[in-house]
Amino acid sequence: STARISDFHRHDELQELAVSLNQMLDRMQRYIDQQKEFVGDVSHELRTPVAVIEGHLNMLERWGKDDPEILEESIKASLQEAKRMQHLIQEMLDLTRAEQINVQYPNAVTNVADVLKRVAGDMSMVHKDFVIRLDMDDMPQDTQIQIYQGHLEQLLVILVDNGIKYSTDRKEINISAGLAQNEVHIIVQDFGEGISKEDQSKIFNRFYRVDKARTREKGGNGLGLSIAQKLVHSYHGKIGVDSVEGQGSQFIIAFPSLTKKQAQKLRERDQA
Ligand code: ADP
Repeated sequence: STARISDFHRHDELQELAVSLNQMLDRMQRYIDQQKEFVGDVSHELRTPVAVIEGHLNMLERWGKDDPEILEESIKASLQEAKRMQHLIQEMLDLTRAEQINVQYPNAVTNVADVLKRVAGDMSMVHKDFVIRLDMDDMPQDTQIQIYQGHLEQLLVILVDNGIKYSTDRKEINISAGLAQNEVHIIVQDFGEGISKEDQSKIFNRFYRVDKARTREKGGNGLGLSIAQKLVHSYHGKIGVDSVEGQGSQFIIAFPSLTKKQAQKLRERDQA
């Protein structure tokens, strides 16, 4: 009778094992599908700049030797495309890293006001034709969150850069920050072309652009917001958009705030 009991056990355990093996296979299949999709997307995105460079090289080969104008134009255009590819590759690396980036900086603590001031200042210097306002009245100056400072900067630069890229005649960006219910909110607002409801749900997907041709002119490749979202999620934050077509957009990010004690503890651990 002992044999029968152990048989019974074995059957149970086998069943459990089969179930978890199947689940694992499903997860692996999903992962493989995602990787395939990513490689497909990347190849597609690299095809355009490579085709443009090839076109210019062909022109150079045929007419460039005798025509200084073609020579100059083709070289300039090829260099521009090469730069675009470099940018694309850098952003793809950022995207793949962003997913588990907080693992690298588990104890990083950042003062929100410091970073906001720096980014707003830098962006004003670079985009002198824009008015960039910073309103931190609803947030204590010493508010801290758990994030690596460079990543908060990167996030804000992505959002402010987009606001600038997609502005129309009103060249203003409002950055505001507030603290409520143990959450820090940062809002980046522009008064540009806005985003339709339908597109709002897609803009965080990698390589998604509302208007491919026009965005390409502006140097966009549809990766900024997917990098931003991955970064935010890896630090347990939230990101969302609120926008009206033709009026402008607001991007909102939120992170859990740290008490002074929590921040102090993390800093100590970070230095250890
Ligand atoms: P890109 O590098 O193309 O700007 P993003 O991932 O940052 O890529 O944005 C995806 C798309 O979302 C953009 O191509 C653009 O169509 C739209 N978008 C992003 N930010 C804004 C904004 N502030 N105003 C209007 N459209 C925006």
